[in-house]
Amino acid sequence: MKIGIFGGAFNPVHNGHLKLIDILSSVPMKPNFASLDKFVIIPTANPPHRSDDEFVSGLDRVKMLRLAIKDNDIFNSKTNSVKLEISDIEFGMVGKSYTYNTLKALKGLYPEGEYYLFVGSDQLFAFKSWYKYEKILKLARIVVFSRKEEDIPKVKQFLEENKDINADAVYASPFDVSSSEIRAKLKNGESIEGLVPSCVEDYIKEHKLYV
Ligand code: ATP
Repeated sequence: MKIGIFGGAFNPVHNGHLKLIDILSSVPMKPNFASLDKFVIIPTANPPHRSDDEFVSGLDRVKMLRLAIKDNDIFNSKTNSVKLEISDIEFGMVGKSYTYNTLKALKGLYPEGEYYLFVGSDQLFAFKSWYKYEKILKLARIVVFSRKEEDIPKVKQFLEENKDINADAVYASPFDVSSSEIRAKLKNGESIEGLVPSCVEDYIKEHKLYV
């Protein structure tokens, strides 16, 4: 079973994330170019000592992700059989949640899985400073996504110089929006229409998040 892993704060989830998830979950994976069976979206735990309006609870972030995925035409009409799953695995972890620990915990849940870890190009350049990165490489294959076309040559060069990482690279053309932009708009009372699915917008309004 091929399992893709994609982490983020999703504070809140937006249409850029959804477009990215659609692209990444459809990538044929090496070595045999088969599709993923499962794509696990992992929201990060709340940073310790931070409970301000800006960082809403893990439960709210998971609920918004669930609504966004359930209500999305792209995912509902997917022809491949990849199963999207939202995992709260990092919420129960004590202290800082390191990718290595998350992967080990997932491996415990699905021991037969072949793991593909999606990392953004910025994260790739810092990958060798990650906790137990060499062990991560033993647990998962790295798939790098670039949101900016100009990053592609830098990613290629980095991978050329760091052959031990042995990653695959994907270009994911961006839908230009960020969670921080959405939080700022909400704080200023501006519309976020078209930036998040309408069910997520309704949830944010109903629960008075990010105000
Ligand atoms: P913030 O603005 O709060 O930093 P963000 O919008 O970048 O948040 P995250 O939850 O931190 O969102 O991102 C999770 C992952 O999604 C990251 O790897 C990030 O590179 C990617 N991502 C975020 N926004 C986009 C977008 N518009 N298009 C493609 N990928 C995105």
